[in-house]
Amino acid sequence: MTVPAQVDCLILGAGYPAALFLAQAGKSALMVDPIGNLGGDCLAEGCVPSKAVREAALVRGLADKFAHFGLRGAAQAEAAFGASAVAVTHDDYATDSRAQIYGETLGFIKLVFDLRNGLLLGAQIAGMDAAQLIAPLALALEQGLGAAALADTAFPHPMLSEGINKAARAFFSSLSP
Ligand SMILES: Cc1cc2nc3c(=O)[nH]c(=O)nc-3n(C[C@H](O)[C@H](O)[C@H](O)COP(=O)(O)OP(=O)(O)OC[C@H]3O[C@@H](n4cnc5c(N)ncnc54)[C@H](O)[C@@H]3O)c2cc1C
Repeated sequence: MTVPAQVDCLILGAGYPAALFLAQAGKSALMVDPIGNLGGDCLAEGCVPSKAVREAALVRGLADKFAHFGLRGAAQAEAAFGASAVAVTHDDYATDSRAQIYGETLGFIKLVFDLRNGLLLGAQIAGMDAAQLIAPLALALEQGLGAAALADTAFPHPMLSEGINKAARAFFSSLSP
């Protein structure tokens, strides 16, 4: 490793937030730590990794909670109905006009349909404003609606809910040979 001859700030031990702030301000910082564990306990073993584990547990807990209300993920639906009995369709935020406008293109809408009758079995949404998209899908599940109803209902443009239309229409294209 090349050690610069001159830096704006020398950080001994932990202190990675200071290094980040300095870098954002266009300053140089050199971090020195005898155990080679830059960032100290917080970054390597403490706050950051433990919060990542906590987030994963929270998401898992939420998935179980939604399953209780009838919302299922693809894996659960396949386990319950058999992989050959379900069709899983996607709409990617990267192709959505509103997500593009806001520069939030990381995300997806995933719908799970019963192949026999096109009824909606479950949905997964990750990304911007996911909470707003849950409502129409929960209503569709509650009312026993399916791909036809979701494909034929016009959601306004440019709104993320258009992705529900697109994912529902994909169910019908998935049926074509
Ligand atoms: C599981 C876990 C979860 C945690 N969660 C949180 C949390 O959510 N929020 C929170 O606020 N805190 C949390 N903490 C506590 C937090 O990690 C510590 O309080 C914090 O890391 C202490 O920082 P520090 O800079 O005092 O010491 P350290 O992080 O231990 O850093 C000291 C550094 O100095 C180096 N050093 C020692 N001697 C020298 C020397 N002579 N020259 C140069 N470097 C030297 C060491 O190698 C070490 O890397 C958590 C801790 C654990 C274990």
